[in-house]
Amino acid sequence: KEKNRDGYLPLFDRFASFYSRYVYRRIRDCWNYPICSVPGNEVVLKDRVTNDNGWTFEFTGSKTKCLNLASYNYLGFAENSGPCAEFAIDAIYKYGVTTGGTRQQYGTCDLHVELEKLTAEFLGVEDAITFGMGFATNALNIPTLLSPGCLVISDEKNHASLILGIRLPGATVKVFKHNDVKHLEQILRESIYKGQPSQEGYKPWKKILIVVEGVYSMEGTIVRLPEIIALKKKYKAYLYLDEAHSIGAMGKHGRGIVDYFGCDPKDIDILMGTFTKSFGSAGGYIAGTKELIDFLRKNSFASKYAWAMAPPVAAQIIAVLKILMGRDGTNEGQKRIETLARNTRYFRRRIEQMGIIIHGNEDSPVVPILVYLYSKIAAMVRTLIKEKIATVGVGYPATPLMEGRIRICLSAAHTKEQLDYALAVIEKVADEIGLKYSRKPIDPT
Ligand code: PMP
Repeated sequence: KEKNRDGYLPLFDRFASFYSRYVYRRIRDCWNYPICSVPGNEVVLKDRVTNDNGWTFEFTGSKTKCLNLASYNYLGFAENSGPCAEFAIDAIYKYGVTTGGTRQQYGTCDLHVELEKLTAEFLGVEDAITFGMGFATNALNIPTLLSPGCLVISDEKNHASLILGIRLPGATVKVFKHNDVKHLEQILRESIYKGQPSQEGYKPWKKILIVVEGVYSMEGTIVRLPEIIALKKKYKAYLYLDEAHSIGAMGKHGRGIVDYFGCDPKDIDILMGTFTKSFGSAGGYIAGTKELIDFLRKNSFASKYAWAMAPPVAAQIIAVLKILMGRDGTNEGQKRIETLARNTRYFRRRIEQMGIIIHGNEDSPVVPILVYLYSKIAAMVRTLIKEKIATVGVGYPATPLMEGRIRICLSAAHTKEQLDYALAVIEKVADEIGLKYSRKPIDPT
């Protein structure tokens, strides 16, 4: 690498990859849209014009309202006109927007105590602890639980926050094929039989942790939880389940993937989730036994050294939890859970009928439309924006190289008319850019 004029090696590896140099630069207008409204079922975007060089842009001062298929607003609680906003506003008046400290240093307010009690109750476990950021909940708590000599077995499609958390503590990491329980068992069997390599030969692992997600955010797949629970029991491994995309959104009562399969929440050693999606708020939680949560309260990097969750954020989550648990005296929560499930099945079925390839389970509100090629990501995002529909384009390195996709997140807040409009536009774009790959004719009835 060349030194610059002052003799420094480059700080950023900006031109390291072909993709950042040639591809991303040419299609980066597909991302980074500043939003100027609540990320509800519609969202207002700041308009931009692309400069003559074709890849930088400037804001024009005008705005466009789009149908929002891009935000993780599964239950429609991101709307500020919703029933929770007044709780958040009251909390600002009462507590301000900061806690003024970490959890152990006067950063715990009574809202945190109430929220953690409610979260544990909602999930059906003994206790829970909350954190200011979902990403940090994974990245900073997993290292608290592991050390060199431990083995982590991680699904290949796990989120970046999990991967970071798994790499930090110096444990041995093995990766199993996405949702492939046979491969997981093979790794478990071989690892237990052999143990960890040491100077004397092999010795047993200190502990084994299996790490999976409830609904995978780029795939829309659902974890094969009952089989994984059976394996973790058989091989005496611990199980860490990230419910970021499933809590609130999946299961008859919105209690996540554990609820969806009717499993016992106590069979999952570490239940993790975020409040950024179904709760329209921010932050994350870990739930489990009292012993686990007490340990994290004392030892977690995220509670010892990081600012506590902001009070209005906690107030919003409490309000949503009460609605989901029916404590507001209505069946609003149940209604939203059912609407999301209905919207999801309807939208997925219609897309499949068009012959467009999508990934994931029929009940998953994350819908990745496979466009495969980079150029098609750009073509689709741009055309949809012109038609006033916001979606997220995702490509390498977040997906395999030739598996670019448009990711759509469905919401209970979407009306049937909105979904029908989106479906009609998607079909038109799919015809234009050649997306109808499925050879199997699908019965439209
Ligand atoms: N886990 C998963 C599976 C995620 O998809 C995400 C982000 N979408 C996170 C954790 C991080 O959560 P947050 O965005 O709330 O910080």
